[in-house]
Amino acid sequence: MPGFELFGEEERKEVNDVMETGILMRYGFDGPRKGIWKAQELEKAITEVFGCKHAQLTSSGTSALTTAMAALGIGAGDEIIMPAFTFVASFEAVLSVGAIPVLVDIDETLTLSPDAVRAAITSKTKCVMPVHMCGSMADLDALKQICADHKLILLEDACQSIGGKYKGKSLGTIGDAGTFSFDFVKTITCAEGGVVMTNNEDIYTKSDGYTDHGHDHAGADRGADLHPFIGYNYRISELHAAVGLAQIRKLDTFLAIQKKNNLALRTYLEQIPEISFRIIPEGGEDSCSFLSWFLPTEELTKTVIAEMKVQGILAGNFYWYVNNWHYISKWDHLKNAVTLNAVSETQKAALLKLTNTNFSASDAIMSRCISTAISLLWTDEQIKEKGEKMAAVIRKVLDKQMQQV
Ligand SMILES: *Cc1c(COP(=O)(O)O)cnc(C)c1O
Repeated sequence: MPGFELFGEEERKEVNDVMETGILMRYGFDGPRKGIWKAQELEKAITEVFGCKHAQLTSSGTSALTTAMAALGIGAGDEIIMPAFTFVASFEAVLSVGAIPVLVDIDETLTLSPDAVRAAITSKTKCVMPVHMCGSMADLDALKQICADHKLILLEDACQSIGGKYKGKSLGTIGDAGTFSFDFVKTITCAEGGVVMTNNEDIYTKSDGYTDHGHDHAGADRGADLHPFIGYNYRISELHAAVGLAQIRKLDTFLAIQKKNNLALRTYLEQIPEISFRIIPEGGEDSCSFLSWFLPTEELTKTVIAEMKVQGILAGNFYWYVNNWHYISKWDHLKNAVTLNAVSETQKAALLKLTNTNFSASDAIMSRCISTAISLLWTDEQIKEKGEKMAAVIRKVLDKQMQQV
């Protein structure tokens, strides 16, 4: 899954370029930096590799989402429809701009259900935010149609799906804007970092200013910049960007290994007729960072997880249903609106409502789903051993259940 697994000389070289000049900031110091502009270079590489017109680096994937929302004009009282299965960062960003996260069900793509989105639209809805979880995507044609019909913004949280594609286009470049995270466990890493991608120049210009205290970056003298609007500091540093630059050059290698290892492991699980796999929308190309699979019932899934633990092969297998970071069932801090600072009454009321919202459609999927993270370091031998052991555990649990019936 993550780029940190194949880390070395290339990253060291890029970081050393920055260390030689000592200019760790992405803006200004034109003389002393001796032509070293790692953040700019990485932004250019992102536009080329993923095929978008503009890329604005940020300090994290969370700040990339916040920045995109601000640049898209999403704010106080606006409703953003998003899935109940995601990483906490998605709703954190929504709350940070004063908007309302409207969490709705997923389907067997493990992403937003278009029907659930349609049912959740109100006069306050401003944006639909699919989250392309675990390397694969939402049905983007269906969501684009909904957004067109209701004049809504489409913002892709593609933080977990770097390298995935839909109908030939990179995930994150299909909506009005899209984001990646480059945190330590993502497909390419900067240690910490993120990016807003868009084909719209206005959204880009706003993102550029917003991440740097509202600076207009119009002239060469940073001190003379104007501030056409209020921004914040969500800048990436040159050191982080340098790491990302080395990583993005290895992306094709990462993706090729992920694909090979994912397909190899899948062959072992495919031999078990009771197992089904996550649905990839037509025209979609999974980044293969995870292999996500379903058992027939929640009980069997819990038993398989318990048995994998007993056998010492649970590492790298995620049962999101009971995981504290990724699914509504465990987000008590969100459902109880536990914030350090006061939030608006509208935000608070919307969060408190989540406790009584019915997510049984998502529960029925998430309670049967296990995602296996694909390592870049596995040897063919290790995949064989892993595949055989996993299959043996699953067969054992299934056989035992048959005997009980
Ligand atoms: C990682 C991630 C983010 C943002 O993460 P940061 O750690 O802030 O870079 C946002 N959304 C999803 C779905 C993620 O997995």
